[in-house]
Amino acid sequence: MSNTPYPEINSKRLWQRHLDMARIGATDGGGVHRLALTEEDIEAHLLLVRWAEAHDFTTDLDAIGIMFIRRAGKDVSLPPVASGSHTDTQPFGGRFDGITGVLVAFEALETIQEAGIETRHPLETIIWNNEEGSRFIPACMGSAVYAGVETLKAARAREDKDGVTMGACVDTLKKALPRAGVRELGAPIASFIETHIEQGIKLETSGNTIGVVTGMQGYRRFEIQVIGEDAHSGTTPRARRKDAFVAATDMTHALREILWDDKDEMRYTIGRFDVLPGGISVVPGQVNFYIDLRYHDKDTLDDLGDRIPVVCKAHAGPCQIKIAEFITQDPMNFPENIITSFEEVADRHGFGHERLYSYAGHDARHAARLCPAGMIFIPCWKGISHNEAERAEPGDIAAAAQVISDMLIDQAK
Ligand SMILES: [Zn+2]
Repeated sequence: MSNTPYPEINSKRLWQRHLDMARIGATDGGGVHRLALTEEDIEAHLLLVRWAEAHDFTTDLDAIGIMFIRRAGKDVSLPPVASGSHTDTQPFGGRFDGITGVLVAFEALETIQEAGIETRHPLETIIWNNEEGSRFIPACMGSAVYAGVETLKAARAREDKDGVTMGACVDTLKKALPRAGVRELGAPIASFIETHIEQGIKLETSGNTIGVVTGMQGYRRFEIQVIGEDAHSGTTPRARRKDAFVAATDMTHALREILWDDKDEMRYTIGRFDVLPGGISVVPGQVNFYIDLRYHDKDTLDDLGDRIPVVCKAHAGPCQIKIAEFITQDPMNFPENIITSFEEVADRHGFGHERLYSYAGHDARHAARLCPAGMIFIPCWKGISHNEAERAEPGDIAAAAQVISDMLIDQAK
């Protein structure tokens, strides 16, 4: 039993838990390959449940496979105060992305439990499901379904590249956890906070330990089909060509003119560009390409995104085009009172901190639709992420656990 209201987390145990988790799906290159709801990902869930059962914490699963590890509160009518992240990784990814936020949240639960602190609200570690979106598209699927952004039916029907559905995999997870209780989708959460590696170099550069995240970029994604006509590359003169490649590259250059801002804040990416039919001596009759546009200001994102179809049409030449916007997400900001609470806790422990903006998506975005939410970042070596070389320091992870533990106590009392 601790006398102080804020017990010290166990940094040694936390690092050991990190090492234990990093073994599940470990790659030769020092990373982790643990795609959503594979055998390895389910094993990671089971290990967490074993640790939870040692404290008599209970475990619930919802219909999309999100796992909730709960430490009971004094008032059973109150919703949980929660923290967490994800156990899945990118293919041959790192051993810190996602799992760090889970282990930090769980360490906070253990610390509070061992200190014998009673809270009014229950405390929870949430393991969102399929955050990375590398096996089942899209990313942050579990939290999207929980928050009502995507339907359960649509999410369960998503297939991986082998035709296995998300729904079948969720059922496998449920079978592996026969003692888990049932959580209703969208059941109230009092508050949610998430720890993540920064995946950038701002903290490493400033030397600060804690990045308090103020908000997340919005994004718009477009599929553009440019339809021309296949033709012989030797015999067809320019005047008779409907060259989809020429039209598509004219479009992408023209878009770059309007989307590359001087401040380098607008993110305009074409990550996929398919030239069809793909014969070396065939004038391409079709090009499909995909635009990922991200920005922090909704009005600008709306305006520039709306100009994409206009610019594409203007540069289509003799080709036809079809444009579909298939994902849209507005920029979001976390509530100021959570941001300042993080800063107060960091100050209390002497952790250097600064406010940061998140240029990547995280589950906290969807959680913020349900309850007050917030995020902290910790430094990430050279900003390297989604890579086996990804690295974070044990001391920084411990600092995050301390911040989360204090925050949970404050929010749940
Ligand atoms: Zn992540």
